[in-house]
Amino acid sequence: MNRTWDVIVVGARVAGAATAMLLARAGLRVLCVDRSRHGSDTLSTHALMRGGVLQLTKWGLLDAVVAAGTPPVRRTVFHYGEEQFAVSIKPAAGTDALYAPRRTVLDALLVDEAVRSGVIVDFGTPVVGLCRAADDRVTGVLLQDRRTGRVRAEYAAIVVGADGRESLVAREVSATNEFAGQHAGSYLYGYWRDLPSDGYEWFYRPGLAAGMIPTNDGATCVFVGGTPARIGAAVGADGSPTAAFDGLADQIGLGERLRSAHRIEAVRFARSLPPGYLRTAQGPGWALVGDAGHWMDPMSTHGMTSALRDAELLVDAITSPVAVEPGTAGSYQHTRDRISRPMLETSDEIASFGWDLDRIRDVVRQMSSAMTDEVETLALLGQAA
Ligand SMILES: Cc1cc2nc3c(=O)[nH]c(=O)nc-3n(C[C@H](O)[C@H](O)[C@H](O)COP(=O)(O)OP(=O)(O)OC[C@H]3O[C@@H](n4cnc5c(N)ncnc54)[C@H](O)[C@@H]3O)c2cc1C
Repeated sequence: MNRTWDVIVVGARVAGAATAMLLARAGLRVLCVDRSRHGSDTLSTHALMRGGVLQLTKWGLLDAVVAAGTPPVRRTVFHYGEEQFAVSIKPAAGTDALYAPRRTVLDALLVDEAVRSGVIVDFGTPVVGLCRAADDRVTGVLLQDRRTGRVRAEYAAIVVGADGRESLVAREVSATNEFAGQHAGSYLYGYWRDLPSDGYEWFYRPGLAAGMIPTNDGATCVFVGGTPARIGAAVGADGSPTAAFDGLADQIGLGERLRSAHRIEAVRFARSLPPGYLRTAQGPGWALVGDAGHWMDPMSTHGMTSALRDAELLVDAITSPVAVEPGTAGSYQHTRDRISRPMLETSDEIASFGWDLDRIRDVVRQMSSAMTDEVETLALLGQAA
């Protein structure tokens, strides 16, 4: 077997590009492939939590996020019905603000830094299968050439699936599901100009939630979410997501603020999302990062932060001089699961939209406490490095 690469990473967005970049910085030969285009957009509402900002700071990339015009977020305001509760972002763990970069900014920035670090990145190239040794160990990937359609193999010691919720790598290795959530929300979101927001603003009303997230180019991303039945009924069989959004925004008390601003892009509809899951994270010759390995409902606004975190946890495990048995204390999977499980359980309850305003306050507090644990773990990793 002609093994050209130490690691092949499938997927070049937050999870894949960050993983590839860190591996290359550690001196490994890395190929990263993605079937999409460099700098393309994807469904996402952009909010990074403190753990994600901490990672970007540690890797020397936050300045570029700021230079791209991403506004700092210094407060989070929770609107529980008519009541408001504001929290200032205190300087801690090297961060004094949160950021919500558009994916066209963040993903491109991570890929460009991966390339600068020595990763060979190949866009427009789908992985169509995995290669295996006689003992079933994963040894590489089958790539389809974008021009000729021909399939060729590339070999590596490890194949990392950073290929999102429908991960081919997870499917091919039959990664088992260790946690299966019960609930999934549906979301409508769009972008407005001239919409001042007091940092991140989250809105809760029985059966509905919304968020305002300041992002690049002076725009604010606004989303509304609820059960698929409620959002689906608002959109209707052949209805318009835009009209549905306006009606739901009125119901959650945002209508007036939005009418005094300017919508700048069509409303997008994230209709069929899965409930949260936590898949086995590693096996012989393979590992999963980001949504390929676990998914939380977007109400958590934590998927990108998880992806950046997992990138570092996995690279730490791959490059560690001391091999730790997968699943045992200190392994990539063990640390990922310890941090993720409480968040998964909490975000599953949020995604049920079955809470009342007292309960959602408690659940939001639990989520916040789980995120604090995550930041503490990441800050310690930084010290060890
Ligand atoms: C509506 C919505 C709102 C969200 N809002 C937020 C938010 O505010 N904050 C937050 O942190 N998270 C949010 N998320 C979650 C966040 O978008 C994801 O967690 C994040 O995109 C995961 O990144 P990833 O790199 O793991 O996967 P992805 O972003 O899905 O990237 C996977 C990549 O793999 C490539 N790929 C897939 N299969 C193959 C193949 N066979 N061959 C080659 N390439 C392949 C794809 O082209 C893609 O580029 C939201 C998600 C949704 C749906």
